[in-house]
Amino acid sequence: MKKEDIFAIQQLLATPKKVAIIPHRSPDGDAMGSTLALYHFLLKLNQQPIVISPNNFPNFLAWLPGSETVLIYENDKENCTKTLQESEIIFTLDFNALHRTGEMEHVLKNLTVPMVMIDHHQKPDTFATYTYSDSLYGSTCEMIYNFISFLDKKELIDKTIATCIYTGITTDSGSFRFPSTTSATHKIVADLIDIGIENSEIHNLLFDNNSYNRLQLLGRALQNMKVVPEFKTSYITLSQKELDEFHYEKGDTEGIVNYGLTIKGIHLAAIFIEHKEENIIKISFRSQGSFDVNQFARDNFNGGGHINAAGGKSYESMHETIKKFENLIVKITI
Ligand code: 5GP
Ligand code: MN
Repeated sequence: MKKEDIFAIQQLLATPKKVAIIPHRSPDGDAMGSTLALYHFLLKLNQQPIVISPNNFPNFLAWLPGSETVLIYENDKENCTKTLQESEIIFTLDFNALHRTGEMEHVLKNLTVPMVMIDHHQKPDTFATYTYSDSLYGSTCEMIYNFISFLDKKELIDKTIATCIYTGITTDSGSFRFPSTTSATHKIVADLIDIGIENSEIHNLLFDNNSYNRLQLLGRALQNMKVVPEFKTSYITLSQKELDEFHYEKGDTEGIVNYGLTIKGIHLAAIFIEHKEENIIKISFRSQGSFDVNQFARDNFNGGGHINAAGGKSYESMHETIKKFENLIVKITI
């Protein structure tokens, strides 16, 4: 982060202010972890922070400290719009373009207050006044730890803040196995453990809370998996009917895409999930090695993300979407 930006933010935070903190739509562990870590940190700086999420967060993150204070824009647009308009600083975390906040974009783009972007996605837009963006980091939470260090306030990281930071580092690194996991990541985690986080319990809260229905849905997804060995690709489909059959709840499909990559010789995995209400097919891509799914999602499926993990959407039917995908993988080198 640029020295002059750190200084400017220090000046902004020198007196108490109303601060809005915003994760991307359908926030994941890193988006919720980073926004809540910053929320607790700003409280300790005597600021008046509030986290406003574009829509609801999944149940498996509801145990995060402070999640009960989060405002949900989609559930209360009027109040959230007012809060945003009254805020004096806005932090946008874990996303690189305002449209990732869905409808909230229309409120945000008309605001003139200073905005601070902290994010690890490629090709950030330039909407923020201060941008700390670096796609070499595995998570925004790792950057929040650094951000607090840049402000020379590391001693304020307590067990609550550390728990939120650990959550995002863990979820976005696939429990420390993705290539973006560095020795710096582990040093930060070592520090968080020294601060007193219960790392094993956090892991249980995040990953060992399956419902029977979710496991049945996973079973169906795995049975639906198609493997195309000649193109080192596997993909899964889930229709709305299948989601309904297993009483789908937000978060139930999280992580399923990764199973495709665990097959020997597979370097590209995708999952296509039908969302009838929004009339879209939501897609997740994962790759191993040099195939850039961020570019692939941008070029073909209205999305983006990182080199090895990206998402997107299709407005065509499942059948047409899969046809398009199958035609594309023939043409690319994986
Ligand atoms: P997931 O597949 O877990 O939804 O997302 C993987 C990564 O891609 C995440 O970092 C997420 O923020 C990003 N991503 C997911 N969907 C989209 C999208 O529609 N547009 C963009 N730009 N990024 C996305
Ligand atoms: Mn992230």
